Amino acid sequence: MTKKKVYHLKKGTKIFLFLCVLVCISSYYGYQYYQDYLYKQSYEYKLLELGYKQEQMEVLVDKLNDEQLEKILTYQYNEFIPEFVKTKYFLFKNLEGYLSQVITQDEDFFKYHGTEGYDYEHLVALVNVRATENPYEEALLVDESKGYAMLANKYYELGSDYEPEDLVDIELKYYYGDKKQIRSEVYEAFKEMWNAANEEEGIYLIVDSAYRSYEHQKKVYQFYEDSKGTKYADSIAARPGFSEHQTGLTLDIYSKECFNAKTFSKSKTYAWLVDNSYKYGFILRYPDGKKDITGYSYESWHYRYVGKELAEKVYKEGITFDEYYAFYLE
Ligand SMILES: [Zn+2]
Repeated sequence: MTKKKVYHLKKGTKIFLFLCVLVCISSYYGYQYYQDYLYKQSYEYKLLELGYKQEQMEVLVDKLNDEQLEKILTYQYNEFIPEFVKTKYFLFKNLEGYLSQVITQDEDFFKYHGTEGYDYEHLVALVNVRATENPYEEALLVDESKGYAMLANKYYELGSDYEPEDLVDIELKYYYGDKKQIRSEVYEAFKEMWNAANEEEGIYLIVDSAYRSYEHQKKVYQFYEDSKGTKYADSIAARPGFSEHQTGLTLDIYSKECFNAKTFSKSKTYAWLVDNSYKYGFILRYPDGKKDITGYSYESWHYRYVGKELAEKVYKEGITFDEYYAFYLE
């Protein structure tokens, strides 16, 4: 009786163990299958399938959000995409613009240099500030809601009606030539800067140009255009409605020490302004070697008021205001 009982128990145990093993095996494979399914749903898998190398895929997954990755998956494999995504000032909305810049490059160039040969940071900057578009013709209206941070250039137009409401007269001791006006907050900041330059270095700053109305700019531009044609006029002056001087936020500054456009960049005044003007809310608007970005040749005398907080940020970032605006403010 006892033996039989044991046998029955053994048989039950065997069935039980068999079932356990069966459950383990099926859940193991089920789990594997599920993991595999999940992996195939991942961007990692889909991007690799599309042809991206491991390193390229990692860049894309790291820098882009889900919505952007979905968009990338609708394109064919493109070796330039990860290169642009890697740049510091990459803006997803401009991706197609960046890619079109590569297409316009010479094919032989790519053959010899590969993707290494392109200056991706520079192409990104050009597209971000719209320098790849036609100046003037494709201009948008200046966004006045940005206040002191507004951007006026060959791609953002003030129009003929724009005139600031808080213009004040500049005192005679601060300027040279005809009577001048500037926006009141800019004037206060300028006087503060004037005092600092004077106390620290014995410099006497002199304003050469301040607010210029649409009509004023029209005369300036017309004068150049009449004398040597449109191309020449465009190279030397902004068209009316496009001058930053019309914002009432811009000053052309020289000093008693040096009042000469050709030599000002070598002066002690300029050296002081470069290092200190941001503390009073001003930035050097058209730096050397940035003509393709700003649309203007180097102007060591042209300073734009953007407010102290923003001026410090732009100064420390080390990029032009056009680039800063496109990336951080627009
Ligand atoms: Zn100027």
